Amino acid sequence: MPELPEVETIVRDLSHLLPGAKVRGVTVLRPDLIEGESADEFAARLKGKKIRGVTRRAKNIVTDLGGERLLVNLGMTGRLLVAREGEEETGHLGVRIALDGGRELRYHDARRFGRLWIVGEDAWRAWDGELGVEPLSDDFTAEWLLEKAARSRVAVKTWLMDQARVVGVGNIYASEGLFRAGVDPRRPANSLTADEAERVVAGVRRVLGDAIEHRGTTFLDYRDARGERGGFAARLQVYDQEGEPCPVCAAPIERIVQGGRSTFFCGACQS
Ligand SMILES: [Zn+2]
Repeated sequence: MPELPEVETIVRDLSHLLPGAKVRGVTVLRPDLIEGESADEFAARLKGKKIRGVTRRAKNIVTDLGGERLLVNLGMTGRLLVAREGEEETGHLGVRIALDGGRELRYHDARRFGRLWIVGEDAWRAWDGELGVEPLSDDFTAEWLLEKAARSRVAVKTWLMDQARVVGVGNIYASEGLFRAGVDPRRPANSLTADEAERVVAGVRRVLGDAIEHRGTTFLDYRDARGERGGFAARLQVYDQEGEPCPVCAAPIERIVQGGRSTFFCGACQS
């Protein structure tokens, strides 16, 4: 499932490739991917629009159309690719957006948990306002974490994964961030000291930054906007490493289940 670094990688590619392009036509092959209106209405609303820019909010790709925005959430298996017209398609094409200059923006999704929708200015503000803080922004600080977590006994790993608090940090990067912080993922969120909160913020930011630098983590489905796999999987230190030696102390990495999801950590390095 794509998390923040994977979506950021795609956004950075698209932000070089798409601005200035005009939408010539839209073909919706899988209408269930379109939210909020019919596939025909969606296509009509996009046609003729000029793409001003591409950014990210949480795990969503935000395409600025001038007044309106096209939002894409990749779900579990979504891919958003730029291709030449007529170029061979990878499987499960859901939406094809023809651009001027002979290019296409293609949305593929094998399991179809992803979605595409268009919002006007008011809907955008309401939606944006309900999302949590961006972990790579200046708002994600130790002070903020201590204040927000003060009344929560939820385990810190589960706490970090709540999108209403911090966006984009999923199962992989919550485990990896806490390992870098040296904080046990089972610790109640409100038990963190100021020093530990600093380390958690730094650890999460560092792992996200490193993962973006290596263009994300691919286990199965994730591909960047050029169709390439991410390179960060080989650099994961604890995630999916149960029984392997900790890269710091060589104790075996442990796996537990928290909130129905696997957590990986080193019981010796993280306290
Ligand atoms: Zn260790």
